Amino acid sequence: MKTVSIIIPAYNEAESFPLIVENMQQVLEMNPNYNWEFLLVNDGSTDATLECMINQHTQDSHFSYLDLSRNYGKEIAMMAGLDYINGDAVIFMDADMQHPINVIPDMLQYWEEGYDDVYAQRRTSKETWVKKKTSQLYYRILQDVTSIPIQIDTGDFRLLDSTCIDALRRMRETERNTKGMCSWIGFHKKGIYYDQKQRVAGKSKWNFLALLNLALNGLTSYTTAPLRIASILGGAVSVVAFIYLLYIMVTTLVFSEPVQGFPTIMITILFLGGIQLLCIGIIGEYLGKVFKEVKNRPGYFVNSYNGERP
Ligand code: UDP
Ligand code: MG
Repeated sequence: MKTVSIIIPAYNEAESFPLIVENMQQVLEMNPNYNWEFLLVNDGSTDATLECMINQHTQDSHFSYLDLSRNYGKEIAMMAGLDYINGDAVIFMDADMQHPINVIPDMLQYWEEGYDDVYAQRRTSKETWVKKKTSQLYYRILQDVTSIPIQIDTGDFRLLDSTCIDALRRMRETERNTKGMCSWIGFHKKGIYYDQKQRVAGKSKWNFLALLNLALNGLTSYTTAPLRIASILGGAVSVVAFIYLLYIMVTTLVFSEPVQGFPTIMITILFLGGIQLLCIGIIGEYLGKVFKEVKNRPGYFVNSYNGERP
């Protein structure tokens, strides 16, 4: 019998915990033809999440838990989870159970048919209009600036075959964007639709700033297109400035018109200054990432795996 692991990163999800357990028990009942392993990753929660996990692990051996040494963020929690699972396939799910378990049988079926990456696409979302629209826009921009096919409206909810697990395990960068990495590794992909549910307990960890951060991180860890855009922008502005320079020279020398001083200078300085700052900022984004990666630190440290220090 094949083993399938479900990784659930959890940060302060004690309120959602009964829901997780209930859902996972349903997964067990609905899919008896597989061995199931539920790996709960405690991402440095400050509430009772860890106690809940320990409790559940002692009650039911299907549940394992990985306790990280602090809060690292969801991406790293997922990376850590990947290192500790034993399954032939893995499914990522959110602790708030916004991902419906009723698509899991379909995922398994496509996996059996030979697909390596079965990703779930949101047909309907229960997020606010603004969050929905910005997220759509973001995916489309991302797709436009990169040549790798991107799975639109897809979150982290997906099933990955062991080939993909191995691939992701070998990608040790700590500035991660799992979605983008899944697109990058390729392999046979299959999208299935699902209706996102509302978060029932606890609250979302993402405010607007955190989401903006995530989006910029996703963009910069996925593509160097912004650097290219900066160069193009610089080139374009220089060309325009040169043409303007010729124009000024001709009007003053040939038609002896007096040069309009202050406004033109101000506009040029402000415009160029803005573009320069923007481009330096873009370079800085990448430089920051390089700085973090060259330190080559391990992505995370572990307090305990099922009660033992690894
Ligand atoms: N999460 C995490 N570490 C963090 C923030 C979030 O492991 O620092 C987990 C969280 O417990 C949940 C998942 O990531 O399982 C998604 O978080 P959330 O539901 O808050 O995000 P949203 O669904 O609103 O995008
Ligand atoms: Mg959520």
